[in-house]
Amino acid sequence: MLIVMRDHATSDEIDHVVERLREAGAEAHLSRGEVKSIIGVIGDRETIYGLELEGLPGVEEVVRVLKPYKLVSRDFQEADTVVRAGSAVVGGGAVAAIAGPCSVESEDQIVSTAHAIADAGGTMLRGGAYKPRTSPYAFQGLGEDGLEMLRKAGDESGLPVVTEVLDVRDTDTVAAYADVLQVGARNMQNFMMLDELGSADKPILLKRGLSATIEEVLAAAEYVLKGGNRDVILCERGIRTFESYTRNTLDLAAVAALKTLTHLPVIVDPSHATGRRELIAPMSRAALVAGADGVMVEVHPDPEHARCDGPQSILPSAFQQLMDDMTPLLELDRRHWGREPV
Ligand code: PEP
Ligand code: MN
Repeated sequence: MLIVMRDHATSDEIDHVVERLREAGAEAHLSRGEVKSIIGVIGDRETIYGLELEGLPGVEEVVRVLKPYKLVSRDFQEADTVVRAGSAVVGGGAVAAIAGPCSVESEDQIVSTAHAIADAGGTMLRGGAYKPRTSPYAFQGLGEDGLEMLRKAGDESGLPVVTEVLDVRDTDTVAAYADVLQVGARNMQNFMMLDELGSADKPILLKRGLSATIEEVLAAAEYVLKGGNRDVILCERGIRTFESYTRNTLDLAAVAALKTLTHLPVIVDPSHATGRRELIAPMSRAALVAGADGVMVEVHPDPEHARCDGPQSILPSAFQQLMDDMTPLLELDRRHWGREPV
């Protein structure tokens, strides 16, 4: 950490900052200039941050040099993390094709969709039972009944299932049915939930928050790893920008950047990122070319009558076509669909 003092800060002000640092057990290296003085600090990061030195007289700026994450970093672990859930593998050259409706609506809907996704070569089934809706009057999901239907669809089709934990109190219930636990964009910084999922024995699919920076995504994942759960898949799902033609703005640069910064697998959700059916295929292909370890796509047998996110859902036949179009892209990179016998 660096402490930049105001122009012409007095010796008393500088000495006071140095004294506070030494009291806290940190080393302070003063570089005194004509106009500006800078103090380099070495010591326990959390203790030093806890001093809140920004508030001391004469301090202009505190520059944090250390990153707020460690375990998720490529510096800590160079090799890709490979996450396994049932027959699905994600990371290290294994690519995920996760598909399914926004929400589980009926047994018929989820079971028929699951079979279509398995036939198309999908590697995992998605479907929400607890839905985070902007309006409290919108369909909130079928709850535990939905989880039961999703489990049945997964078992019948042979696909592992991923579904969202909307409330930390539902963690055990959701974990009893799901193979992968999803943390939605709105919960990315629900630190109590991240803490709790750190001790879950299921992989976590962590979606990027609506306005979260890359560093914040990594710090959120760090909570889960710190709790002991190393199986985290990150998901870029679009961020809020001034653009309103698309539902969000798909940040593919973040995918390429994350791949350099972390060993965790990174997938892309083009459905929530664009909100538009016609953009799903091109953005899925672009995601793989950018280095994503998979895609998660909303697929519905009757999008027009979907209870949630119909306009961004594609038909099973379009998903089949998409799989056929993505396969050669993987082969170019010597990668493969992440599917193995259990
Ligand atoms: C979802 O994947 O069902 C979902 C609600 O996405 P997000 O949390 O990214 O909005
Ligand atoms: Mn949705």
